[in-house]
Amino acid sequence: MKLAAKVALVGIGKIAVDQHVPAISASPDWELACTVSRKGRIEGVESFTTIEAMLEARPDIQVVSLALPPAPRFAYAEAALKAGKHVMLEKPPGATLAEVHALQHLAAAKGLTLYATWHSRMAQAVAPAKAWLQGKSITSAHITWREDVRKWHPGQDWVFEPGGMGVFDPGINALSILTEILPAPVHLKWARLEFPANRQTPIAAQLTFSGAVTADFDWRQEGPQTWDIEVATAEGRLALRMGGNVLEIDGKAVAGADTIMGEYPALYARMAALVRAGASEVDLAPMVHVADAMTLGERVITEPFQF
Ligand code: NAP
Repeated sequence: MKLAAKVALVGIGKIAVDQHVPAISASPDWELACTVSRKGRIEGVESFTTIEAMLEARPDIQVVSLALPPAPRFAYAEAALKAGKHVMLEKPPGATLAEVHALQHLAAAKGLTLYATWHSRMAQAVAPAKAWLQGKSITSAHITWREDVRKWHPGQDWVFEPGGMGVFDPGINALSILTEILPAPVHLKWARLEFPANRQTPIAAQLTFSGAVTADFDWRQEGPQTWDIEVATAEGRLALRMGGNVLEIDGKAVAGADTIMGEYPALYARMAALVRAGASEVDLAPMVHVADAMTLGERVITEPFQF
């Protein structure tokens, strides 16, 4: 049975336009009823510039989906939950762990759904990778997440502001996959963070976790881009490539299922299931690793960065 719930989409920028609007529009569960953004608009959809004005004018909205950057997101999420709306959070779910805990408590107290989404976990090879690793002995793992910030985040200065997380904005996608597929949790033991001299957040990071798990995140990669996770086990080698979309076992590509949904349609389908079930889903494991890296990491100052 379709949910047919009205969604207010907040923060009409890159990801809202590229992914949220098409995913909502294609789903029978959802109707894009209005938007909230200071400047952004979607043609043909009622728009507001503040969350307060939207909540006042549209009591029929059931779900608020927040696609704005993490630093300003808490105030919007809190206002929506206080007004009795279910809330869906883009990744990373907030600027701090404590503010997401506060949202969890508020949602639970009001009997509302809070869904902290991790779109990379919905990539098509992640579930088969998790299934293959079940019961296997992991001997080591390595993440290589190297992309060009100028290509993927042109002019988005917020990524280099406090709360923007720098290279952990993409890196947390890798950590969301790692924490999903490994049969047992790991914890950070060492980190080295490279901060451009003129910026507040790192542009590169190298991480070492327990269990011989390592990661190399870099936002200065020109040319070919790499989003790989390689896992060695006593029973063979697994590689997830293309951000969790390609699975290789012992160097051979494993065919994926054609029927798997795209990442954002899958997130909205999951939100519909959570709302129907009256449940919440907030897994902060990927963000714990980022917070730990910021706590433990050695700081290195590098070349100033300009878009
Ligand atoms: P964006 O385009 O820079 O920002 C989205 C919109 O949020 C902006 O257009 C802006 O709209 C609003 N906004 C920005 N700063 C704000 C502030 N201080 N207060 C209130 N509103 C503000 O960013 P994005 O790339 O879409 O990323 C948004 C979120 O999605 C991030 O958490 C990111 O990690 C995640 N994400 C991004 C991508 C990607 O490829 N870009 C992929 C997956 C997930 P107005 O100016 O109209 O208010």
